[in-house]
Amino acid sequence: MKVFDVVVVGGGTAGITTAARLKRAAGNLNIAVIEPSGNHFHQPSFTFIAAGLEQPQLGKRAMSEVIPTRCHWVRDALTRVDAENNTIQLSSGEFLGYRVLVLAPGLTLDVESVSGLGESLSDRNNPVCSIYDSSNLDKCRTLLSQFTGGLMLFSMPSGPIKCASAPFKIINLIDDQLRKSGVREVSRIVFITPYPGFFGLPGYEQTVVENAKRRGIELLQEHEVTKIDARNRQVLLTPVSEIAATRNIRNVRYDFAHITPRMRAPSFIRESQLHHGEGTQSDWLLVDPFTLQHPRFLNIFGLGDVAGLPTMKSASAAIKQAEVVALNILSLFKAGKAHSLPARYNGYTSCPLYLGIGKSLEAEIGYEGQLLPSLPGSPFSPSRVSWILNRYIRPKIYWNKTLKGL
Ligand SMILES: Cc1cc2nc3c(=O)[nH]c(=O)nc-3n(C[C@H](O)[C@H](O)[C@H](O)COP(=O)(O)OP(=O)(O)OC[C@H]3O[C@@H](n4cnc5c(N)ncnc54)[C@H](O)[C@@H]3O)c2cc1C
Repeated sequence: MKVFDVVVVGGGTAGITTAARLKRAAGNLNIAVIEPSGNHFHQPSFTFIAAGLEQPQLGKRAMSEVIPTRCHWVRDALTRVDAENNTIQLSSGEFLGYRVLVLAPGLTLDVESVSGLGESLSDRNNPVCSIYDSSNLDKCRTLLSQFTGGLMLFSMPSGPIKCASAPFKIINLIDDQLRKSGVREVSRIVFITPYPGFFGLPGYEQTVVENAKRRGIELLQEHEVTKIDARNRQVLLTPVSEIAATRNIRNVRYDFAHITPRMRAPSFIRESQLHHGEGTQSDWLLVDPFTLQHPRFLNIFGLGDVAGLPTMKSASAAIKQAEVVALNILSLFKAGKAHSLPARYNGYTSCPLYLGIGKSLEAEIGYEGQLLPSLPGSPFSPSRVSWILNRYIRPKIYWNKTLKGL
């Protein structure tokens, strides 16, 4: 059995950034990255790509191009962690050993949480799409370019999801595109959410609501899409409160539906002894919220979307977490034994809220909703700087610096 100094599970934002940082700081470490996919995705670009503002190639590179030099890429999926014996098993049946394990496998789209969604996404004749599915972006683009008016639905699921602003920030970009082509006048846009509002974060919510009102975007609150009836082109809804139930809205017809499914931790985490096991983060990976170390298995760290942390899941969060995890692993190797770790994560996460083409604001917060703005001016006011940063600058920084551990 091969044994590595560090095994990183997942070659996404969190995994590659951590591996690159470790390799840059300690070139002698023998690091393996376990990743089944042949491509790496910059998911923040998906919103621009689906709205027809960017070319699809902006969001994708061959995995071989982003695996850090002199890291060993194992093109396979992890199926089981044997934390007692510092061993992992791969889907090929092979076992690998580790001195330190970094778990960064992201999350799983729970497509089955909406009955009929899987079939609807792959059916070219059914106008249902999702920007959360990298293989569905072309369909989103095509549907939008062919849309001639009617009822557009956009849904938000319950439970933690990555980039919690994406289900509604895409609406504002599409709204502007429809206005340009003259189709908006003959369209209705409805946002269906199990929550009382769009985003929920005080301060930001008001800006988002005012923007939606100005655009004539309707809010159907406290309802969740649970089924797609493809034949009758309608979504079936489940009310999530008694008051919502009294409104007796059970289905809505659509001419275009953008569905965001629920999201879960990968099954190998849920079925292991590594998850929280109770509370709101129950299925998600248990790690110390500050050091990102597993509290029981001290040579296991977890970060990115899989981590059960009381903050929003985002690429910005994963990148900050990677800095902390890399520093703490280096410290662990240096000390040669368990000790108090030096680097601490403050919960930083950033969700850009696009209020329209050219207008955006950054929801940058830490644990307990602490505001951590990095741009000048009021964090609740839209700015052109935020738009330029997200649309043009961040993707370049991501490919050329972040993934290289810089
Ligand atoms: C539409 C959309 C818009 C977004 N917009 C933003 C934004 O504007 N700003 C922002 O900060 N964030 C945004 N995000 C969120 C951001 O992309 C994610 O939070 C981030 O990619 C999380 O990184 P990760 O490494 O944890 O997961 P991922 O980047 O998803 O990577 C996980 C990797 O693990 C691999 N994997 C899965 N299972 C296994 C296994 N069993 N064994 C081995 N490997 C495995 C996967 O193949 C994948 O490569 C957006 C996401 C979406 C979908």
